[in-house]
Amino acid sequence: MDRRKFIKTLGVGTAAVSLPGFGCVSSQNEPAKPNIVLLFADDMGYGDLGSYGHPTIKTPNLDQMAQDGIRLTSFYVAAPSCTPSRAALLTGRYPFRSGLSNVLLPESENGIPQTEVTLAEKLKEQGYNTMAIGKWHLGHAKPEYLPTANGFDNYLGLLYSNDMIPPWVETDKPLELYRDTEPVEHPVDQSTLTKRYTEEALKFIESQKDDPFFLYLPYNMPHLPINTAAEFKGKSMAGLYGDVIEAIDWSVGQILSALDKNGLDENTLVIFTSDNGPWINMPDRMLQAGNERWHVGSAGPLRGAKANTYEGGMRVPAIMRWPGKITPGQTSAEMATAMDLYPTIIKACGGAVPDDRVIDGNDILPMLKGQAPSPTTELYYFRREELEAVRSGKWKLRLSGHLRTDVKPEDLPTPELFDLHVDPFERNNVAERHPDVTEQLREKLHQFRKSM
Ligand code: MG
Repeated sequence: MDRRKFIKTLGVGTAAVSLPGFGCVSSQNEPAKPNIVLLFADDMGYGDLGSYGHPTIKTPNLDQMAQDGIRLTSFYVAAPSCTPSRAALLTGRYPFRSGLSNVLLPESENGIPQTEVTLAEKLKEQGYNTMAIGKWHLGHAKPEYLPTANGFDNYLGLLYSNDMIPPWVETDKPLELYRDTEPVEHPVDQSTLTKRYTEEALKFIESQKDDPFFLYLPYNMPHLPINTAAEFKGKSMAGLYGDVIEAIDWSVGQILSALDKNGLDENTLVIFTSDNGPWINMPDRMLQAGNERWHVGSAGPLRGAKANTYEGGMRVPAIMRWPGKITPGQTSAEMATAMDLYPTIIKACGGAVPDDRVIDGNDILPMLKGQAPSPTTELYYFRREELEAVRSGKWKLRLSGHLRTDVKPEDLPTPELFDLHVDPFERNNVAERHPDVTEQLREKLHQFRKSM
């Protein structure tokens, strides 16, 4: 009998038991704390997965995960670039609240403030073992910015983006692979990162005994410069970019089978998403040393790309699976954001969100279970520090530049109003047809800016 079935046969009313690998097995009143696996791709677009309509890239493991759980089609990150998107994911708050609205560079002196309470820190309070594997990008200049000072017991990965080395970025700082607080590899072999991160994740999962765990795996791929291990090269129909995505899909498959093999799948919430849209609009500096135009992904039918506030910059694939809790086979257009994961996970793990600060996310577990509409009906879109757009229900108003004082009124672009139910592609500006909605949303933007 496998461990999972054995535990089921224990039934309710047994005394607290502790079994290898299962996490906190409960006494009669206290439900077992779920394990959390949060998989986060870098610059993967809305259209890059088979289950999101990519015509040639094959992602059978992620597609199956969607079949076994929920696939969200209106899931947003809080910013269209790496650092602010990650800050929001791990704090449940818009990036301006932690002062991390801009992408950190190798020379950056700032990082995540100690006053922020990260998701990992909240889960430590609940008795979780925590591990981060992959791209951090929330500060590296001081020890207090590192993952191990922000709630993670252990860490393996790159502290910032994989392109932040010559010739793409002018810097003297070496890009190094870190283990906990020490550099262990330089130069970094980027071709095997996805594979090595996966092996590290499997080791971590295998090593879990009595406590619940939180595994955060922010892949470096498919951020430029893309690369993958020899066994994946030339295997997809979609060139090197397809190979890189299919390697990530392989990685997800490995992690899901490790959970299954260890009897953990029923007690584990697995989430897969991306930090921002594809870098279709990359600057010319990126087109060196082997990078090609087709080394970036697709926003599918959505307009825009990384670093802008059209849908393609901030709406990303999002698949979540929790057998027995999330009804399988769902596809949902309910709105949700990466900031929602903070309260959702903390609550599911028995904790409470900090009450001494604004938390912008909402608990979406009832929505994921198919029991309630999403509590999230609004999103503010930022490009760096600039508030550019708001979505409220089906309406989105994009007022790029309008809230700035240094832009002359005659230089401002036309306000853009989109009905995202009818026109998620943002092709038809209906601002003139709906002046009342435009005005209401303009007021919302002004009010939110005032509150900042
Ligand atoms: Mg990114």
